[in-house]
Amino acid sequence: MSRLEPTFTDGAGFGTSYPARVADLRLHIQRQNDLAPAAPAPVSMASVLPGGRHRARGLYVHVPFCFHKCHYCDFYSFVDREGRSGDYLAQVARDVDWTLARVEGEIETVFIGGGTPTLLTADELRTLTAQIRRFPLAKSVEWTVEANPETIDLEKARVLCDAGVNRVSIGAQSFDPRHLKTLERWHDPANVARAAGFLREAGIVNFNIDLIFGIPGETLADWCADLDRALAIGPEHLSCYGLTYEPNTAMAKRLERGEFEPCDDALEAEMYEATRDRLEAAGFAQYEVSNYARAGRECRHNLVYWRNEPWWAIGPSASGFVAGHRFKVVPRLGDWLARTDQADAADGTDGAGQPVVDHEAPDPARHASEALMIGLRLAEGIDARLEARAVALVPARVQVIAKAIADGLLERDATTARLRFTRRGMMLANEVLMELV
Ligand code: SF4
Repeated sequence: MSRLEPTFTDGAGFGTSYPARVADLRLHIQRQNDLAPAAPAPVSMASVLPGGRHRARGLYVHVPFCFHKCHYCDFYSFVDREGRSGDYLAQVARDVDWTLARVEGEIETVFIGGGTPTLLTADELRTLTAQIRRFPLAKSVEWTVEANPETIDLEKARVLCDAGVNRVSIGAQSFDPRHLKTLERWHDPANVARAAGFLREAGIVNFNIDLIFGIPGETLADWCADLDRALAIGPEHLSCYGLTYEPNTAMAKRLERGEFEPCDDALEAEMYEATRDRLEAAGFAQYEVSNYARAGRECRHNLVYWRNEPWWAIGPSASGFVAGHRFKVVPRLGDWLARTDQADAADGTDGAGQPVVDHEAPDPARHASEALMIGLRLAEGIDARLEARAVALVPARVQVIAKAIADGLLERDATTARLRFTRRGMMLANEVLMELV
């Protein structure tokens, strides 16, 4: 639903590089939809991860249900959930069992994303969150749930708050019905404030609003009005992404058919600058290319991704990073449900874990390159040690970095020697990152 975590170049597996739009950082790669071609033959998570217990900061849980498919969306979700949420929840319980037996230490961040987790009923949310509570959660855990404004009511907000959820990410995308229509996004803009009201009333005061700019037909004034309406609701965090036309989405097909003109690059750049100016004036700091937060309200879960730290993953299409291994869970609900029953029956133990369709074993060189690509998107940039490792791997990076510094796109902190994008460089981050690949 949101676009916070790293995604990979080909959208179907762990490519060798991060894409220009790592803004679409969705480390759990939700690219395929339910009608996508069959995934590669899955292997079991047990065959991928080393034995024993593993420390990980985060936990991501993917809920694949939505009540409508938005035209820009390439995350794994589908509309027909009739009778499937019970099976889904039962499977989550089994995968929590499996994962729990391998967790070392406390989980510091939880993110339940999708899909639309709040499409689940209040009772189903109670069941799902009870499963998550079985993990050894740190006292200071940041626990986020993604929500569609249409699907939050006071009862669900209370269920979430009582369970320990302390952050909600609301997918608003726009407050303008014309632009929501272009995106085929179904919700009443007025319900964003209504959802925030329910959350506050239940006791959840930390929430994010997701917005999209660069929608065909959108003007700078329209975008600024969206920002103002979002700010008026009082979020602690805003994610503002330029619209992308991901392959195989309805939006991309409509673009190919010439149904609309994409937003002009110059206008999109103006929107980007206006975002930063307006949000900074309102007390937000840009801490990542597309993300803004009030002090102390940066999304800790997404920082786990962006700092290349480990996390567990549960649910169809969820991606994880544990013990240096990257993996992606099979992206079809049917396959995800079917296998564990078979695995359990076959080995008589706690099963083989979730089926994995993409796996990369630890590779220090790749790890350094990934850390460079995603770390640079953060305002804090990367430290000198990581830079040295990344440059040693690909010596040509020295010239790219030197040129970007000369062009005023990158800078080195005089005290810490951290390398980071300048204000202007943030806007052109994608271009520089593509050269650094
Ligand atoms: S609500 Fe829309 S954007 Fe979010 S996951 Fe569902 S279809 Fe995708």
